[in-house]
Amino acid sequence: MAKVVKFGGSSLASAEQFQKVGNIIRAEAERKFVVPSAPGKRYSGDTKVTDMLYACYALAEAGEDFSANLAKIKARYQEIIEGLKLELSLDDEFAVIEKNFKEKAGSNYAASRGEFLNGIIMAEYLGYEFVDAAEVIFFHDNGDFNADKTNKVLSARLAKCDKAVVPGFYGALDDGTVKTFSRGGSDITGSIVAKAVKADVYENWTDVSGFLIADPRIINNPESIEVITYRELRELAYMGATVLHEDAIFPVRQEGIPINIRNTNAPEDKGTWIVGSTCQKSKYVITGIAGKKGFCSINIEKDMMNSEIGFGRKVLQAFEENGISFEHMPSGIDTLTVFVHQDEFMHKEQKVVAGLHRLADPDMIDIESDLALIAVVGRGMKSTRGTAGRIFSALAHSDVNVKMIDQGSSELNIIIGVANEDFETAIKAIYNIFVVTKI
Ligand code: ASP
Repeated sequence: MAKVVKFGGSSLASAEQFQKVGNIIRAEAERKFVVPSAPGKRYSGDTKVTDMLYACYALAEAGEDFSANLAKIKARYQEIIEGLKLELSLDDEFAVIEKNFKEKAGSNYAASRGEFLNGIIMAEYLGYEFVDAAEVIFFHDNGDFNADKTNKVLSARLAKCDKAVVPGFYGALDDGTVKTFSRGGSDITGSIVAKAVKADVYENWTDVSGFLIADPRIINNPESIEVITYRELRELAYMGATVLHEDAIFPVRQEGIPINIRNTNAPEDKGTWIVGSTCQKSKYVITGIAGKKGFCSINIEKDMMNSEIGFGRKVLQAFEENGISFEHMPSGIDTLTVFVHQDEFMHKEQKVVAGLHRLADPDMIDIESDLALIAVVGRGMKSTRGTAGRIFSALAHSDVNVKMIDQGSSELNIIIGVANEDFETAIKAIYNIFVVTKI
């Protein structure tokens, strides 16, 4: 039995946090493969080492003196090494980094050093083997992750280790050039490592006790989600619920490995389990609520639209030609509405309208802006009658005008469109009806 444990930046921001992590890892012998992030913020207002590295490298690239910045980064690591009382010097590593910065090795290389150095410290602290991610995680030349080569090389390499540390966030192209994933990408590394060693669980340790049913900036102290399926998570993540990098789901999902989100600062909390499928009912009919502001709706009317073959395609072509992706497209008999991101659409508005007239010849086009979309997600909705009714009566009682309703055919979600200004009220109303009053 093996567990892959990934620790986020706030879990590794200081020697004190490292000690908590050490205790967690030593508590279970199965925690054999460790994926660390770079040191994050120690307190609010602090700077993450990754951001310090980007800033330092920007100076190097501009040909300016970056020695003071690099010294500050070194001091962050030194503080951890001394706090853990390790006999370890990173002088050689920093000499190489300085040389490579001067030779303009690139911002990907620069940022990756945060995880690289933290990985060296972690391996020394735990007595685990250090495996440089640049030797086992690969990208294609076009920048896409090379899943096949990675899985082959990484699983062969880790089969030789009993216990190992693989730094998160980066890998390399075939020619050895270091390349990072997008920000927060250590989550992806954890998932890739879990797949390669066929782990039983991928534990992702962060600073919250899992996913919350709703955004804590809107709902005071929301309950956390105990079990969520990958599909539910996709729906919530798409609507802005962040804890885990979106792309971290795919490698483990293919292998049916569950992810357990845990809190380094409250290790006794069970956290959230993310699973392929489950017979476990969620505690409430809904699993979670998430939403985003800043959408526009383009309402298109044309008599006899329903019998005009290809009408939908022509409408979408006008968006496609302008490089705009659509988010939702509810339709009536003679109407069709397209929801798009306002900031993507705004500058191209008149071009799209002209395109719609040219391609689809509608009777009328009406545009509404400043809309929010809210997704109410739950595998339990399928088997529960009256969910939609409860949502809409709660919204009506809170004086929220519903502008759009879209229930996915999977019955896993209901998407509701409201005015931006009603966004918070609507989320509170839905949370209250399902979680607080349970009427
Ligand atoms: N350190 C990187 C970042 O700040 C990657 C990560 O933490 O996952 O984005």
